[in-house]
Amino acid sequence: MRIFDPHIHMTSRTTDDYERMAAAGVRALVEPAFWLGQPRTNVGSFTDYFDSLVGWEPFRAGQFGIRHHATVALNPKEANDPRCRPVLDVLPRYLEKDGVVAVGEIGYDSMTPEEDAAFAAQLALAVAHDLPALVHTPHRDKVRGVERTLAVVAESGIDPGRVVVDHLNEVTVKQVRDTGCWLGFSIYPDTKMSPPRMVELLKAYGTERMLVNSAADWGRSDPLLTRATGDAMLAAGFTDDDVDRVLWRNPVEFYGQSGRLDLRDEDDAEQTFAGNSILRGGS
Ligand SMILES: [Zn+2]
Repeated sequence: MRIFDPHIHMTSRTTDDYERMAAAGVRALVEPAFWLGQPRTNVGSFTDYFDSLVGWEPFRAGQFGIRHHATVALNPKEANDPRCRPVLDVLPRYLEKDGVVAVGEIGYDSMTPEEDAAFAAQLALAVAHDLPALVHTPHRDKVRGVERTLAVVAESGIDPGRVVVDHLNEVTVKQVRDTGCWLGFSIYPDTKMSPPRMVELLKAYGTERMLVNSAADWGRSDPLLTRATGDAMLAAGFTDDDVDRVLWRNPVEFYGQSGRLDLRDEDDAEQTFAGNSILRGGS
C-alpha cells in the first residue's frame, strides 16, 4: 500500500514516527503551517518556522525515503493577533519556493472579523500564485463554520477544484460535496473521524475528490491512521485500486495542481542538511 498523507504536522512528531510511517507505506506527505501551541509574538518566529518546513523537515523525512512538501499561511487562530498579522506580507516570498504546494491552513477558528480578512487575503494569494488552498474548518459550530467558509471561497473566485475543505465529518460532507471543492477528513484516535466511520462515508459518497489524512499534531493523534483506514477499506470490500486512489492518486492529483510535487524515488537522492546526517545514527 502506497500512502500520501495530505495533512500531517510532523514538526510535532518524533523521528521514530517518520520511521514507523515509512514502514507502514507512507512515501510522501504535505505538512501545513499551523499554530505551534505557544503563541508567537513576532513575524520572525513565523519565518524560522516556514524555513524549517522547507528545509529541516524535508531533510528529516528524506532519511526515511519520505517526500516532504509544505503549505504556508497565517493560521486562523493567530490571525487574531496583531503581532502576527504582518506575516501576510512575507508569505509571497515563501509561496514561490519549490517545496510549497499550497496556501494553508487558512479558514476559520472563532469566525472573527480578523479571521475574515486574513482568509480572504490568503485566498487571493493562492489565486495570484496559481496555487491550491488548504482550508481548515472550525471544530466548534461546524455547520455554520463550513457554510461561511464556502461562501468566502465562492466569493474569492478561486476554482473550487483547487480548494480542499478539511476536517469534515458526516454532518458537513454533503455541504461541501456539491460545491466542486475537494473533501478532507482527519482521522483521529478518539475525536473527529475514525477509520470505520471513514469507510462508511466512502461507501456512501464514493472515492472521487476524497482526501484522508492523519493530521497528527500536538494532541493525541496517530500518524498511522491513514494506513489503518486503508486496511479498514480492504476489510470492507474496497479493492486495492480504490485504496490507492484515496491514499495516493487523489492527493497527488490535488497537490499536483501546484506543478511542484516531487515524487522521485528517494533512494537515489543524496540527502544532506548543512552536512548533517545525525538522524541515521552514523550510517
Ligand atoms: Zn492541521
